[in-house]
Amino acid sequence: MVYDVVVVGGGPAGATAAHDLARSGHKVALLDREGRIKPCGGAIPPRLMADFDVGEDQLLAKISTARMISPSGRHVDIPVENGFVGMVDRKDFDPWLRQRAEAAGAERHIGTFTRVIRGRGWPRVVYRDKASGEDREIATRIIIGADGAKSRVARGEVPGADRIPLVFAYHEIIAAPLRDTTYDPQRCDVIYDGRISPDFYGWVFPHGDTVSVGMGTEDAGVNLKQATAELRRASALAQCETLRREGAPIPLKPLDRWDNGRDLVLAGDAAGVVAPSSGEGIYYAMTGGRVAASAAAACLASGNPKALRLARKLFMREHKTVFRVLASMQSAYYRSDSRRERFVSLCHDIDVQRLTFEAYMNKSLVKARPLAHLKIGFKNLRHLAGLVPETHV
Ligand SMILES: Cc1cc2nc3c(=O)[nH]c(=O)nc-3n(C[C@H](O)[C@H](O)[C@H](O)COP(=O)(O)OP(=O)(O)OC[C@H]3O[C@@H](n4cnc5c(N)ncnc54)[C@H](O)[C@@H]3O)c2cc1C
Repeated sequence: MVYDVVVVGGGPAGATAAHDLARSGHKVALLDREGRIKPCGGAIPPRLMADFDVGEDQLLAKISTARMISPSGRHVDIPVENGFVGMVDRKDFDPWLRQRAEAAGAERHIGTFTRVIRGRGWPRVVYRDKASGEDREIATRIIIGADGAKSRVARGEVPGADRIPLVFAYHEIIAAPLRDTTYDPQRCDVIYDGRISPDFYGWVFPHGDTVSVGMGTEDAGVNLKQATAELRRASALAQCETLRREGAPIPLKPLDRWDNGRDLVLAGDAAGVVAPSSGEGIYYAMTGGRVAASAAAACLASGNPKALRLARKLFMREHKTVFRVLASMQSAYYRSDSRRERFVSLCHDIDVQRLTFEAYMNKSLVKARPLAHLKIGFKNLRHLAGLVPETHV
């Protein structure tokens, strides 16, 4: 038996690809090792819910305010106008996505991918079956590699995959504090402070009865647990019960190629696709799964492996500019506490607030207000050039 597509990895990217392909009538296998909750803050934008038909019943919380906190402890509360930031629990969200793909017709395989074998005939995906511990092989025309950061599929098949820069992120899931504290279950806090992270940020994301508190950094010398303990202390969350401690890498740069020119294409973290500055990856993983499914379908229909390139092309056409803007923001403002102070000051600007959240929620830069863009660009330049004195920050 030969599948049209074997999808390796059933996170947001792989489950979306398998769902789309099964719905369009393809014979699909979805392989996941199961049994490990993906460490993740779980923040998702409304655009994700609209594009991928995710109902509000998946949400643990709807966030209406984002608080940006500077190294000196100043903060700006940004109201999330015309929408919200949704919070999902990956413990439930990922299994739900996999079940949805299965209900659409994808066949589930539970085990750990080890390698692809090629010889005569179709390529075969080899995995260690979880129940029996035995090696199994499945033959397929196309493979989608969606097995996350440090993807084994990508490292074996696509040049450059072992050189993707990574942020090491760590968080603790804690019991939510009582309501009479300063904690607000509808407000997420984003902490820009060199003591918490020298090059990224820390966060407090409410998840209903629980809270995700964590941070990330590219600096392997930082003690993530210590930084998170400091963040919990500063946020008056040190006393809350700790339910889970977990960490994982976040890739920071999309690969130049997502396919092997033959029979395989990558999606999501496996392709390095997470937004710079924010580390947001769930929406981009699902979009990556969708474009990988379209590219696989085009390749199956035409028999032309060049169609696999379509995945990266379609994705970049839509998101390249936002990724570029976010990458330059990260390199300009995440490098010192004095820059972080300036960044939080910039967040006071009503136009910055509106454009940032519109871009987050709708995943496009709003072209309708060119004057606001100009104004922000000008303010940005004044801060970066040091024309706004420290005392006025
Ligand atoms: C601490 C932390 C906080 C984050 N917070 C947010 C946030 O708030 N919002 C946001 O949008 N993004 C966040 N991200 C990023 C986001 O979690 C990822 O970008 C997203 O999960 C990528 O989805 P994916 O499907 O590509 O990969 P993954 O979610 O990693 O899924 C990969 C799947 O592959 C399976 N797998 C892996 N290896 C194998 C193998 N060898 N064989 C079989 N199966 C395998 C795994 O079981 C898993 O199901 C965070 C990341 C971290 C680490």
